[in-house]
Amino acid sequence: MPGPGEALIRVRACALNHLDLWQRRGLERVRIPMPHISGADVAGEIVDGGGAFAPGTRVMLQPGLSCGRCEKCLADCDNECPSYDVLGYQSDGGYAEFVSVPTGNVVPIPDHVDFVSAAAFPLTFLTAWHMLITRASLRAGDVVLVIAGGSGVGQAAIQIARLHGARVFATSGPGKMDQARAIGAEDVFDHYQGDYSKQLRTATGHRGADIVVEHVGEATWERSVRSLARSGRLVTCGATTGAHGAIDLTHLFARQLSILGSYMGRKPELLQAAEQFFAGRLTPVVDEVLPLAQAAAAHERLESGRQFGKIVLTP
Ligand SMILES: [Zn+2]
Repeated sequence: MPGPGEALIRVRACALNHLDLWQRRGLERVRIPMPHISGADVAGEIVDGGGAFAPGTRVMLQPGLSCGRCEKCLADCDNECPSYDVLGYQSDGGYAEFVSVPTGNVVPIPDHVDFVSAAAFPLTFLTAWHMLITRASLRAGDVVLVIAGGSGVGQAAIQIARLHGARVFATSGPGKMDQARAIGAEDVFDHYQGDYSKQLRTATGHRGADIVVEHVGEATWERSVRSLARSGRLVTCGATTGAHGAIDLTHLFARQLSILGSYMGRKPELLQAAEQFFAGRLTPVVDEVLPLAQAAAAHERLESGRQFGKIVLTP
């Protein structure tokens, strides 16, 4: 049952994220309470709205959990809260029939938005919005290179960058290039072979990228750094293939590069992104919908990297 200030939601859809894989495998220095229920991206219906929402209200959930009282929370920087958690990470999440969250994490969705799309939206679009708009200060006309454009964060970043008037390029495996172009990438480079930093320079008249959106890590890091234009910003939210990346410091200072870390995003950013989603200007790409009982197969698909966009479970 929900505690004080919490709402109880009947889960209609829950999307996977790489975070689900990390916490299933276990992480050094992170305590995952057991038994554990994964799942950060949830859409469903209110059962008990904690006095804030009527039963039956269709909602999606803000996946960031924070104290709501500290200096960072009160300054709308909830993703910097010392007790910040992601739903389903060190708390119980949405691989379930019901989930409870603070009422402040509940975001009503309009009738025309289906539960699967709503579940596919929050974490990746929040993350990509914070990376591009807040951390990397995206401006219209910027050249943006999105690494792994077929991933959850990648497809969100391509769309957000296009929406804000950027020229967007992406990398992907050979099987995903057409899909990345279809959602807004001007050109797509194979990141399994060749040097996409050189291909990007050819495509942009030797300029390179004002912003590189990274989350792959070791396998792409050096090429991603080399892709940066003068005063370029590399913003990263992940290290799927490994956590260590080298950088040439003379290159860093002489070209005035910025390396920016980014983790999740702020609730007001989710609401800004959601406005665009509800108006049809951002559309989460759904790769596959599977029943909750096939969560293991869903994890295997995400682990294999075969998916384009989000894998969603329905109870
Ligand atoms: Zn706080």
